[in-house]
Amino acid sequence: MIYEPVIGLEIHIQLKTKTKMFCSCSANESATSPNTNICPICLGHPGVLPVTNEQAVRFGILLGIALNCKIANNSKFDRKNYFYPDLPKSYQISQFDLPIAEHGYMDIEIPDGIRKTARIGITRAHLEEDAAKSLHGTDGKSYVDFNRGGTPLIEVVTEPDFKTPKEAKIFLQELRLIARYLGISNADMEKGQLRCDANISLRPLDENGNIIGKTLNPKTEVKNINSFKHVERALEHEIQRQTKLWKQDNPPAISTTRGWNDEKQQTVDQRSKEDAADYKYFPEPDIPALSLTEIAEEMKQQLPELPAKRRLRFTEEYSLRMMDSKQICSDPALADFTEHVFSELHAWMNSLDDMADADDEMVESEKKKLGKIVSGWLLSKLGGLLSERSIDVRTMKINPENFAEFITLIATKKLNNATGLKVLNKMLDDGSDPSHVMEDEQLGQMDDEGAIAEIITKIIEMNPKEVTRYKEGDEQLIKFFIGQVMKETQGTADPALAKNILKVKLN
Ligand SMILES: [Zn+2]
Repeated sequence: MIYEPVIGLEIHIQLKTKTKMFCSCSANESATSPNTNICPICLGHPGVLPVTNEQAVRFGILLGIALNCKIANNSKFDRKNYFYPDLPKSYQISQFDLPIAEHGYMDIEIPDGIRKTARIGITRAHLEEDAAKSLHGTDGKSYVDFNRGGTPLIEVVTEPDFKTPKEAKIFLQELRLIARYLGISNADMEKGQLRCDANISLRPLDENGNIIGKTLNPKTEVKNINSFKHVERALEHEIQRQTKLWKQDNPPAISTTRGWNDEKQQTVDQRSKEDAADYKYFPEPDIPALSLTEIAEEMKQQLPELPAKRRLRFTEEYSLRMMDSKQICSDPALADFTEHVFSELHAWMNSLDDMADADDEMVESEKKKLGKIVSGWLLSKLGGLLSERSIDVRTMKINPENFAEFITLIATKKLNNATGLKVLNKMLDDGSDPSHVMEDEQLGQMDDEGAIAEIITKIIEMNPKEVTRYKEGDEQLIKFFIGQVMKETQGTADPALAKNILKVKLN
């Protein structure tokens, strides 16, 4: 018997507003000491009046639009009643029957998946306030920090459309990226800015792939998973655990809640799940209903280009390989930088004399070459240097104009890999422009044939054994000789030119 996993996600994203959802306290909980970003409203004192944060509503709508949702014309807030020490009002202001966004979808690509693409339905997205934070001290006491209490969240609920843990992980990563592109959240899972609950049940299939029994069986909800890796592992563990139960003819009879224990690499039972009736939702009487038609129209105009579209455009416009484009577009700041670099480079290319009468095919092939140079230097070389220095493209001293100039020096062979790396390091040190560095450090590529030939003659005299071995057929030794030339010229010789001269002289 085959058991097909049915997986759905509920994701909370912390919105990057200045103030909290319903009061004017700062929403930046991490910057201050505990219980300092608080006021009577977010502490739930009697008689206070919450006021809706318009920016949070706009951010929520923007995400709804990006997820292809229908934005509600009329929406409202409701009280979700439950008691918990980190919830001073004993209810959370959330949205029940009229969420700001519903009926959307996101398309994902699944490399090496059982299906290559999938459309994941978005059931709804609604706004709510976050609870405070409980801290359990080593002294056996528990503490509550109310700084986070009342900060704005958007909760995204998907349809149970995922078939594998990997699909769920890919979706989450794409959602994080969309939130970053929209500028509504940093969506950093480690910092709790993006939190995930995963629902999973199994259903038996017959040999033709038809479902046996009910479409949806009692599910397990794995709560508060705080990394992409854990989401995947928790779901994989649940598939194993539930498959065992099905095989023992003892499938889960009721829906339950579990947590992920990373040390033990397994999910563990928690309290049983309340359903909506247990929360006794009712409309929040202190907050006027929201009329969203106009704001939704406005936000549609402000929707930036989303990651999927940008990745594709980068392959078409800049002739980048998809894998490079994906890596570049996984960071909006790096993508912006790259875009700027290419616009400089294309202006430079158009100014070249020999491009003036080039045909389309030639221009395309030149663009491809340039694309490879840029992605190579940007992702592996510059990327490596940045991580060595623990900085990123936002904080580095190299601007796009200088990086584009640097690429032209590589493309025109005025710099080679070795001298290029030296120049790049210097540019990172003080933001200087590459041709100045090249002049100051005398790193220009040596293309004086006579001078290189002279050095080669010397090297041949000094390494008679290697010369003999080369002549006897060990052609790999050419690399040794090129290495010697590069050493002798402090990396400035044109390696291709050196190789040609060596071949002539060694014969
Ligand atoms: Zn407050």
